[in-house]
Amino acid sequence: MRKIAAGNWKMHGSRLQLDHIKALAERHKEAACDIIICPPAAFVSLARDYAGPLEIGAQDCHSEEKGAYTGDISAQMLAELGATHVIVGHSERRAGHGESNATVCAKARAAQKAGLIPIICIGETLEERKAGAAQHVIKEQLDDSLPEASDSTPFVVAYEPVWAIGTGMVPRLEEIDEIHQLCRSELRRSHPMLADETPLLYGGSVKGSNAAEIFSVADVDGALVGGASLKAEDFSPIIEALEQS
Ligand code: PEP
Repeated sequence: MRKIAAGNWKMHGSRLQLDHIKALAERHKEAACDIIICPPAAFVSLARDYAGPLEIGAQDCHSEEKGAYTGDISAQMLAELGATHVIVGHSERRAGHGESNATVCAKARAAQKAGLIPIICIGETLEERKAGAAQHVIKEQLDDSLPEASDSTPFVVAYEPVWAIGTGMVPRLEEIDEIHQLCRSELRRSHPMLADETPLLYGGSVKGSNAAEIFSVADVDGALVGGASLKAEDFSPIIEALEQS
């Protein structure tokens, strides 16, 4: 399986910022991993023009193909703009927009139908971890957010502990290992045809300085990176650490 370095720009960026995509495309022409940049939807098309061998993703899509959904964007529209991937179920959408596992699952299916690969985010809150419920929450999110096993269309899973996103706090390597092993074994049970080919990304305060140790964990197949993906000089060392892992 090709490993993945994915960058989630969230609601950051501007036309000028797209120069960072150009710089990454030049620096990582023949990367040994897939590099996916997910800018705001408004910039997907322009970003595609700059991205060369990199792939462009989006950060969310609607679960319906079309309709009276003011302000929303469909997976098919993103595909037409040149996106190949779309993040669904990011904790900022689950918490800030009330997205349930069922909504995330419907979005993942819509993405697949449009020919996009969904990057499906899961992760426990700090309260859930402190209560010893992390494994239970992850199992439930996997059970209810992933598309049906009967569909052999690929997807990516990103484990992002909510308390590690944008905080500088990172779980211990044993904690990452435990959840990634759990994800792999759950996938083998629920999606036997895809389980070993499904990339499991870790996300939450990944930086150049901690990337190599995170990538040394057995079932970590890459990273979903927020803050450190905004500038080419910050994202490049993460990509290099992944290539060397
Ligand atoms: C994210 O937004 O998915 C993320 C992991 O953010 P950060 O890397 O900034 O913690």
